[in-house]
Amino acid sequence: MSFEAIKNDEQQYMMHAYGRFPVALVSGKGAVAKDVDGKEYVDFTSGIGVNCLGYCDEGWTKAVSTQAATLQHISNLYYSPLQTDVAKKLCTLSAMEKAFLCNSGAEANECAIKIARKYSFDKYGGGRQKIVTLVNSFHGRTVTTLAATGQDVFHNYFFPFTEGFTHAQANDTDDLKAHITEDVCAVFIELVQGEGGVMPLEPEFVKAIASLCQEKDILLMVDEVQTGISRTGDFFCYQGYGLQPDVVTAAKGLGGGLPIGACLCGEKTKDVFVPGSHGTTFGGNPIACAAAKEVLSRVAAPEFLQEVKAKGEYIREKLQSIGNVKEIRGKGMMIGIVTEKDNAKEMAGKCLENGLLILTAKNLLRLLPPLTITYEEIDRGLQILKNTMEA
Ligand SMILES: *Cc1c(COP(=O)(O)O)cnc(C)c1O
Repeated sequence: MSFEAIKNDEQQYMMHAYGRFPVALVSGKGAVAKDVDGKEYVDFTSGIGVNCLGYCDEGWTKAVSTQAATLQHISNLYYSPLQTDVAKKLCTLSAMEKAFLCNSGAEANECAIKIARKYSFDKYGGGRQKIVTLVNSFHGRTVTTLAATGQDVFHNYFFPFTEGFTHAQANDTDDLKAHITEDVCAVFIELVQGEGGVMPLEPEFVKAIASLCQEKDILLMVDEVQTGISRTGDFFCYQGYGLQPDVVTAAKGLGGGLPIGACLCGEKTKDVFVPGSHGTTFGGNPIACAAAKEVLSRVAAPEFLQEVKAKGEYIREKLQSIGNVKEIRGKGMMIGIVTEKDNAKEMAGKCLENGLLILTAKNLLRLLPPLTITYEEIDRGLQILKNTMEA
């Protein structure tokens, strides 16, 4: 099938919810994808931070295909040793207490929001259900997670949104304090705002949030959907900030390419849900759990995390000598590049033509390479980026 034929079918049969790059990808290995015409692309996107082990990693493929041939789905009416393995591993690695497994980032965040409201209702009764999120945040595309998202561009068309969210300025402790009113039950933050333009929060601001929350029994909830699963060089980004949240959400990298999300609870929140409080048909699916189990057995090892940090440093270092690079932001292998010419979108399109998949966020170029990318693949990708940026 030709690219043109695929594109025509897409136009005819799919809702136009996405602006797509003009390429149809059909296979991949490591950090290299192939399109329908056999052209290769170095992948600095890993499917927006999903394919943390790259394409068709041997261990991952074996875990997934073996499970597919063993038991593809049960329901949450029965126990599953794969679910308990994943939950146990997540709790051990995060110092959290209990997990709820779901299918996506937005769902993990919906779960966190429900936990915050029920925690507060159980303890204080009604009238204390407001959640503070940050301006420029991104928490998902469902009606409630859009309400949580602190970007006005997302607040069109779909009225009415879920009530009870208010947005404070990032890195502004006074503004945060002004938002902490008597009716607030939780503060919900990304430690590095991803879609908002790869903006890390300042450690002092995060400390201030943590102590305010502690003081007033307000839940500290961290959206690690993009930053989690070793992306920033710690298993969870909050571990690098020296934080212990009450609720943590994860998704993107967790399944290494299959849809799975998790909401993790600490001591305060672990028993908020009781049978009937929440549920999902697909959440904790055995194949997705087999994938997550493989991912978790690999990416949290100290040597692996050290490698993520080292590769992040290496990329940053090399980027500094590339023309049109003005500023480099982020943490570990979550990297944003402000361009001199303010032409990130155009550069991303040109990179594709030249054989490099790269993301944008706001007006930045954004890199989320597979965590297992080799130095050779990094060099190959950066060479394409350099040629494109300096052309
Ligand atoms: C991607 C993302 C989400 C939404 O995840 P989906 O799986 O697309 O629902 C939520 N929060 C953050 C920080 C994200 O990066």
